Amino acid sequence: MEDVDCVVAGAGVVGIAVARALARAGREVLVLDAAEGIGTETSSRNSEVIHAGIYYPRGSLMARFCVEGRRMLYAFCDAQGVPYNNCGKLIVATSEAEAEGLAAIKARAEANGVEGMRLLPATEARAMEPNLACTAALLSPSTGIVDSHAYMLALQGEAEEAGAMFVFHSPVTGGRVSESGIELAVGGAEPMALRCRLLINSAGLHAPALARGLAGMPSQLIPTPYYAKGNYFTLAGRSPFSRLIYPVPVPGGLGVHLTIDLGGQARFGPDVEWIDSLDYTVDPSRADSFYAAVRRYWPGLRDGSLQPGYAGIRPKIVPKGAPAQDFVVQTGAAHGIPGLVNLFGIESPGLTAAIALAGHVAEAVA
Ligand SMILES: Cc1cc2nc3c(=O)[nH]c(=O)nc-3n(C[C@H](O)[C@H](O)[C@H](O)COP(=O)(O)OP(=O)(O)OC[C@H]3O[C@@H](n4cnc5c(N)ncnc54)[C@H](O)[C@@H]3O)c2cc1C
Repeated sequence: MEDVDCVVAGAGVVGIAVARALARAGREVLVLDAAEGIGTETSSRNSEVIHAGIYYPRGSLMARFCVEGRRMLYAFCDAQGVPYNNCGKLIVATSEAEAEGLAAIKARAEANGVEGMRLLPATEARAMEPNLACTAALLSPSTGIVDSHAYMLALQGEAEEAGAMFVFHSPVTGGRVSESGIELAVGGAEPMALRCRLLINSAGLHAPALARGLAGMPSQLIPTPYYAKGNYFTLAGRSPFSRLIYPVPVPGGLGVHLTIDLGGQARFGPDVEWIDSLDYTVDPSRADSFYAAVRRYWPGLRDGSLQPGYAGIRPKIVPKGAPAQDFVVQTGAAHGIPGLVNLFGIESPGLTAAIALAGHVAEAVA
């Protein structure tokens, strides 16, 4: 059996950021991923938005790591030449009742430490975005967009520079907690057995299954996974807006919003579709509900102009209808196994939060 200091299971944005943080702290790090490369699951199936940190409950890990992570991410992009655009976002109210809700969203954002939030009357919002229909808006100037692949590649580059090794086609298929460490069975083309002092379970949608496969991990502390798919539809031609446009949030997600990629292409989504098994196909008939949702803030949307895009799946750990769940960073203090950290429920804003979350994990195991 091979011995290694730290294993990170999962090379999505969070696993890569954790590997970077551990390697920079001087630890030997091996990253194992089941797929053929980095970021093939949720990390490449999202809105690529650098979130400001607006909606999360004060004091939550999401609030803290989003605000810190966003600042770190902009600095990281500058230092590493990762393409991004600090384009800002408008949260738009389309009724008087929604307009009243904007002040509460602003207050929550400010409690979380988000800078520069500003309530705008409809006239000012429309002066900024002439195609917009709204009764009022809330401007978030620190929101932006990032090239998620360039971001992950740059994190991987720094992790490797600090000595981390990445191995693909290598799923962790099971394991056992022993007195001398955590023993892992690794499948794939070249199956192997490994023993590590530290295991970071960063397997995203599969993190509960991975934890369940570890003999010695208390099963009552492993959450049941639930899947909330988010479908996207793309718009032919150039974006009618230069900022991201979000409606007032809906249960389970942020509402069908408009995001722009760095090439200026607009996409709408993600919606919320609770599913029982992982399936990324986009049902074209869901477009109907998109037209209705989008026309509330952009009446100019023409029939037939939305094309099915792609989908991502939120790694939920609470079922439909339950109150939203914070990120879970489960260390030995919770489950009694000193060399194991489980990361559960790392949904949005995980892309934004990754560098701050990784710093927190590295500190927790130092
Ligand atoms: C629809 C949608 C929109 C989103 N939009 C945004 C946004 O705009 N901004 C934002 O900040 N966040 C957003 N998020 C959240 C963000 O995408 C995620 O929080 C983040 O990508 C999670 O990264 P991860 O590394 O935890 O998981 P993943 O990217 O899913 O990585 C997990 C990795 O583990 C590997 N793996 C699985 N099982 C095993 C195993 N047994 N052994 C080894 N490897 C394994 C997989 O191959 C995968 O590479 C969005 C999420 C969704 C679903």
